[in-house]
Amino acid sequence: MVTPYKHEPFTDYSIDENRKELEAELKKAEKSLGKDYPLIIGGERITTDEKIVSYNPANKDQVVGYVSKANKEIAEKAMKVADETFQWWRKTKPEMRADILFRAAAIVRRRKQEFTAHLVLEGGKPWKEADADTAEAIDFMEYYGRQMLQIKDGVGINSREIENNRYNYIPLGVTVVISPWNFLFAIMAGTALAPLVTGNTVLLKPASTTPVISYKLMEVLEEAGMPNGVVNYIPGSGAEVGDYLVDHPRTRLISFTGSREVGTRLFERAAVVGPGQKWLKRTIIEMGGKDTIVVDKDTDLELAAEAITYSSFGFSGQKCSACSRVIAHQDVYDDLLARVVELTKEVNVADPTNHDTYMGPVIDEKAYNKILDYVETGKKEGKLMIGGTGDKSKGWFVNPTVFADLDPNATIMQEEIFGPVVGFSKAKDFDEAIDFANNTDYGLTGAVFTNNRANIEKAREDFHVGNLYFNRGCTAAIVGYHPFGGFNMSGTDSKAGGPDYLIHHMQGKTTSEML
Ligand code: NAP
Repeated sequence: MVTPYKHEPFTDYSIDENRKELEAELKKAEKSLGKDYPLIIGGERITTDEKIVSYNPANKDQVVGYVSKANKEIAEKAMKVADETFQWWRKTKPEMRADILFRAAAIVRRRKQEFTAHLVLEGGKPWKEADADTAEAIDFMEYYGRQMLQIKDGVGINSREIENNRYNYIPLGVTVVISPWNFLFAIMAGTALAPLVTGNTVLLKPASTTPVISYKLMEVLEEAGMPNGVVNYIPGSGAEVGDYLVDHPRTRLISFTGSREVGTRLFERAAVVGPGQKWLKRTIIEMGGKDTIVVDKDTDLELAAEAITYSSFGFSGQKCSACSRVIAHQDVYDDLLARVVELTKEVNVADPTNHDTYMGPVIDEKAYNKILDYVETGKKEGKLMIGGTGDKSKGWFVNPTVFADLDPNATIMQEEIFGPVVGFSKAKDFDEAIDFANNTDYGLTGAVFTNNRANIEKAREDFHVGNLYFNRGCTAAIVGYHPFGGFNMSGTDSKAGGPDYLIHHMQGKTTSEML
């Protein structure tokens, strides 16, 4: 019997011992930077001449690792291995597959600060954010393992007296997993392990900015007893390897997390039935957000201001769930804005290897330029209250930025910026606030601050987002507690870390025997 699921506790770095442990791991991790990492296909290590170079975004001259880069030929080889492995892997016992996840969780837990140190360096995450990423990766392992045990015998259906009917879930086939860099460990691991535990085989293509952590996951899975060929590690260009595998006739399921631009393109390509293809490909596509915090007039303004500050600037606003718009009731708009600006002054932007850094860099030069371009747009559309500047002398640092007095239809209130920029708009009443909150193409997360019960109920029905929070910020969903995924252009709402997630990786099979 496995113990009931409980989420992994966060590390308290105010405790001396914990702080020293991470400091020591950071020193160790820095010493091992710059190594070469091969691809892993069917357990075989393959080194290529062409490399993906992973850099520390806080220290752009520091190379985290050189990773071999798959091309179409290598992707084809990986597809063959995954396809062949699926023929027997699909028949393995769900308990055995779940055990691999439980063991992997235990291995990561024992080396937790080592993984967290790596995320600080490869992802540019401050300690708290890196720790949460590691904890979430562990949670996915523990939760999906347990979920598999729950669904392994299918669901009870009716049988007439003369028959014996069963309804079971069986795996789909080769799954292409394309993951983003922002939850470089948790989302990458969660999206790779859900297909594994449900009996599929996996081609894992991590984001090119953060490929080393996926190699480390592969090592953990091998230590946990994962047979060769079940998950194959094939970093490569999204445009080359990604497209090739998405189009491949043997691809059965595509699990993508990333931008709307790539996600919608991939959705279209996946719909094309190529020569030799025997099925309609299934897609799990989780995309961006333009997440709003609504602040009503009857509320605790200090609580709201603190939540807005953290939701907007935690991990430099690079969470799909990050707050990037605030819609405040006209009666509290000025006070709330002033308080958020005050709190923003306290956000220190620095190298995330320092214990007390609140906000580190953004991921790379492309993100840096894109965010500052949006800042220029914001200056034309609203009033810059604080921030709006960057410093790229050492790493990709952008200061936390607040814009006020925006039309809710302004570009920076509509498009995903994916950086530390938040815009404020005023609403005349709560109904208008909810209308404004709903006026983007997205529908991922949202939060409402109010003490008015009727308004809570109104928002529950009318605020159209996949994850809606009351009187708390809109980030920090926890596996098994806040199933995560969005509506509209935020994606297919597969609800990662939720009770239905694994089913998306399976298909129902009915068997009926006459007695
Ligand atoms: P991205 O640019 O769309 O990249 C995501 C993945 O897609 C990467 O592995 C990328 O590979 C790959 N890719 C790029 N072009 C491709 C193509 N033509 N075909 C197939 N794959 C391709 O997104 P990102 O910048 O990594 O991540 C940030 C975005 O993810 C934001 O929009 C954020 O909101 C969203 N996100 C959503 C969720 C959610 O749960 N809804 C969670 C986290 C992040 P390369 O790196 O090699 O280009």
